[in-house]
Formats: sequence, structure tokens, C-alpha cells
Amino acid sequence: MTAVVYPPDPDRVAELFARFERLAPEPKTELNFTDPFTLVVAVALSAQTTDKAVNKATERLFAVADTPERMLALGEEGLIPFIASIGLFRNKAKNVIALSRLVLERHGGRVPLDREGLQALPGVGRKTASVVLNELGIEPAIAVDTHVFRVSHRLGLANAATPDKVEAQLHAVVPQPWLGRAHHWLILHGRYVCTAQRPKCEACPVADLCPSRRLYAGTASSARRTARAKPAPPAGS
Ligand code: SF4
Repeated sequence: MTAVVYPPDPDRVAELFARFERLAPEPKTELNFTDPFTLVVAVALSAQTTDKAVNKATERLFAVADTPERMLALGEEGLIPFIASIGLFRNKAKNVIALSRLVLERHGGRVPLDREGLQALPGVGRKTASVVLNELGIEPAIAVDTHVFRVSHRLGLANAATPDKVEAQLHAVVPQPWLGRAHHWLILHGRYVCTAQRPKCEACPVADLCPSRRLYAGTASSARRTARAKPAPPAGS
């Protein structure tokens, strides 16, 4: 593993984000939501779970409870069957009901749209607040999840050991015009191209700008070759 040099070369960073922009000018979250309340709930449910799994659960949930009042009326036990297919559902159910109550009692039913107010809601930490504020265009923020953390290191945009420090490093190097969209580009790149186990360096649109590409050279194709060479399992196994 080569050490990542920080800060990165500004010209390389500029070319990197200009290229992401050309590929996906208006990247969006893959979570489904209709307003700030459903966004906060969807993001809170998404911890350690895929967006696809959350969307499957919220499609049914939001059809019956898409406001704090309705969520509170559903209650924890009523909410659990809708989200039982996603990770940490008991804790998430508790938080969603508690945050609905707080939004109603302290904020007249409207989700507070500032960092302090959001982070005071049960189950809403810095990362969730950043996703919400960024998604609604209120504050450009780069929430650092597992994909953003990994991709930032591989692309040589950060070298810190914690998500909060990586977030600070990214804010220091990503040029202002791209700050609001950087979170989406890095997440999508990590989800579909620069995957954790076998990054697809051979198909990566920013490979020529990536200091890590040689570390992973051939991993995806050798994995494909191994899969092709594997004998078929015996019938009935
Ligand atoms: S070249 Fe490989 S390691 Fe670098 S960003 Fe692309 S997929 Fe990730």
C-alpha cells in the first residue's frame, strides 16, 4: 500500500471533478423521498443498509405514514413490520418514533433545516444531517460513509483515519462549484466502480487520475477469469 500524499495536486482534483460532472451533471441520492420529513426518515433508516432495501421498505411505509403525526399514530410496534427487513430495525423504529414526536412537539411538525436542529433529533448524527442538508441544497456537505471514505483514500483526496477528519480534508480540497455534488459522485463511484473488494479499474473513467490504480490492476479481470475457470458444481449440490 502506498502512502497517500495530502494535500493532492489541485489540477488533478479539478480534472477529477470536472470529469465526474461531465459523466453525471446532476447526481442525486438513490433514496426515495418526497419532503424533508420523509428524507430524514429514509436517511435515518439507511445506516448499514442499502438504499434499495430502504426504498423497498419506505414505499409501503410512506403510503401510510409520511408525516410526523401519522408516524406517531403508527407507533413503534406498528412501524416495525414495515422495516423489519432492514438492519437494526428495532433501534431505528425507536428513533423514528422519537424524532417524529420531537418534530411535532418542538418544531410544529416541520423538520428543522439547520445542522443544530437536525442533530438534536434522535438517531440523527452528523452524517445523516450532512446528507439531508446537502440533498436539500441548504448546505454543501460531504457525508463520509464507507464508500466515500474508501474512494477518497484510493483517489488520494484524503488520508485521515476517521470519517470526520476525511470530511474536513475533502472540504479543504474539493473546489467550491463541485462541493455540493461531490458526496454523490464519490458514493456512486464507490458503489458501482471503485467497489470495496474488486474495484473495476479497467473500466474506471478516472483511472488515469488515480494514484491507486496499479494496486488493483487486474483484480476484476482475474476474478472474472477465476469465475469462468471454476468447474460447475455437481448436479444436485
Ligand atoms: S482506478 Fe481503480 S482504485 Fe482508482 S478510483 Fe478507479 S476503480 Fe478505484
